[in-house]
Amino acid sequence: MRNALGLMLASVGAAVVIAAVWFWTASPHGDLAVAAAANAAPAEQAAATASAKPSPAVEDVEVTATSPAKPPAAPPPKTACANPDALGVSRVVEIDTTGGPGFGFAHFKQLDFLTEKEIVLTFDDGPWPVNTPAVLKSLADECTKAVFFPIGKHATYHPEILKQVAAAGHSVGAHTWSHANLNSKKINEQQATEEIEKGFSAVKLALGAAPSPFFRFPQLQHGPAAVAYLGSRNVAVFSCDVDSFDFRAKDATQIINSVMTKLQKSGKGIILMHDFQRHTAEALPLLLRRLKAGGYKVVHMKAKAPLQTVAEYDEMLAKEMKLPVASTRPVNNVVQTVTE
Ligand SMILES: [Zn+2]
Repeated sequence: MRNALGLMLASVGAAVVIAAVWFWTASPHGDLAVAAAANAAPAEQAAATASAKPSPAVEDVEVTATSPAKPPAAPPPKTACANPDALGVSRVVEIDTTGGPGFGFAHFKQLDFLTEKEIVLTFDDGPWPVNTPAVLKSLADECTKAVFFPIGKHATYHPEILKQVAAAGHSVGAHTWSHANLNSKKINEQQATEEIEKGFSAVKLALGAAPSPFFRFPQLQHGPAAVAYLGSRNVAVFSCDVDSFDFRAKDATQIINSVMTKLQKSGKGIILMHDFQRHTAEALPLLLRRLKAGGYKVVHMKAKAPLQTVAEYDEMLAKEMKLPVASTRPVNNVVQTVTE
């Protein structure tokens, strides 16, 4: 009996102990959580106050010291488009230029990668003052992207404008050194190679970075030997599907009508224009609006890898860029104002 009573007391005692332990473990946790929540706001405030304090030297040290413990930074957010009704970019395609693929059904019919209503915007012959920056502004206003084929000489005249083209995220290929017709009988293979390579080297010199391995023949004159050479250099050749003939247009309206009419027939395609031309720069704001209204979607073509320019042509160009000088006397010794 005593044993039974003892057992009962023991079990009651055990129950009390269990309850006490439960209470002890459960409630302090709750208190701690509340305390933590209560402390959070002042801690954040303190941090905010600290960051607002004009003591940059100390803060720099603190930030550097704590940064390794922080989780890796999130990828930079996509640049927001300020225009909610912008033409935009519907998709970006990466081009593997191995073997020198050809684009644009006017000359190359193998690679049919655009679906109905898809277009690629391309601009030749820049960079040029006023017109190229105007084209860049129109493209930026519509949050859309294009492929540019600058002339090498023009790139050396206006490198700062070409830098703006690349900085805006457009693809930059090349369009020869001096806009020579590479299909002409007057041009031999060596000269054609020089036109191509010097063009790319000039773009590289202007940008301070390698161009895309994208090339367009002047006047769309595809010399067979030059096409083979570009293939060996793994450079993609761009013809077009819609030729705006903007260089012949008497005004902006004619360019807009020409592009829209041709697109209605082809339904899609690579559009050839010239950022060098004033009327094209003038036509672009309305043309991009018309493209949007017509349900066309811009595809941005990007190269998988940049072009390796040829050192020989880089050097040739660098030498030509420097004026030959026999004298190194300072300007004040050479030029003296005698009357004013
Ligand atoms: Zn051209």
